[in-house]
Amino acid sequence: MPVEIYSSSKASAAAKAQLEVAIANVSEERLRAVVAKLAQSLPAAENALLAELVTTNPKRKNAEHEVLSRWEMCANCGKEFDTSEERDETECSYHSGEANPF
Ligand SMILES: [Zn+2]
Repeated sequence: MPVEIYSSSKASAAAKAQLEVAIANVSEERLRAVVAKLAQSLPAAENALLAELVTTNPKRKNAEHEVLSRWEMCANCGKEFDTSEERDETECSYHSGEANPF
């Protein structure tokens, strides 16, 4: 039987530990489906995911509606970078902080 959904505060320590194992091992495809389902069904989860994964363009002051993905993979260095952070002069110069910088 699956653990009852949406009752994590009541989950046992063993169940929570197993959840961490499951998150570490589940397929990327299934994890994406689970995250999408959470965002669609739980406003709190949607808000948390928006904070983690979506940002606004820091270079556009009048762009309340211009939103973009917070995390981008750099085609130059292969590292993931946070588009919501100001760029550091010591980091790879390809990290523009703008959507579709390439
Ligand atoms: Zn880079």
